[in-house]
Amino acid sequence: MVKAVFPGSFDPPTYGHLNIITRGAVLFDSLDIVIAVNSQKKPLLKADIIKALFEEQLQAMNLNDVRVVIYDGLIVDYCRTVGAAVLLRGVRSSADFNYEFELSILNKQLDEKIETVLIPTEPRYFVLRSSTIKELLNLGGDISAMVPPAVETALIKQRERQT
Ligand code: ADP
Repeated sequence: MVKAVFPGSFDPPTYGHLNIITRGAVLFDSLDIVIAVNSQKKPLLKADIIKALFEEQLQAMNLNDVRVVIYDGLIVDYCRTVGAAVLLRGVRSSADFNYEFELSILNKQLDEKIETVLIPTEPRYFVLRSSTIKELLNLGGDISAMVPPAVETALIKQRERQT
């Protein structure tokens, strides 16, 4: 039984993340999405809202075995607590690869038993990144091809609250 963990800030959750989750759920016996709380960055969406949005989406996609948790510690500690052997991450570009490669080395130093597995994105999710979505949102651009409708609604509500 191979347990995997997919960590990230997921602010906001996108179709690119959901694609990695769908593919990860096929590869591993169990998959936990771990929403990492970054105290240094001001989030667009709060972690509990991201969790609820993921749960709604996973149910709609019939991915009922994928768990969603919020965690603010070291990801290798989370893996050890739940007995997960794999850290799953996605890559869109060579820049992502460089970053993910360095992160994998760091995590390997922290716990040599935990393996990082990288899944390359599908071409249609290539341009999907949180910073682009934030910018489009601020300028009133269309983000419907990037995030599920419930995420778009949550983002618009959040923007209205801030203005
Ligand atoms: P982090 O802040 O930890 O990088 P993100 O939420 O930005 O968290 O991303 C979580 C993981 O999902 C990362 O491995 C990232 O490379 C991957 N990812 C983000 N967007 C996409 C996408 N469009 N296609 C594939 N993987 C993606």
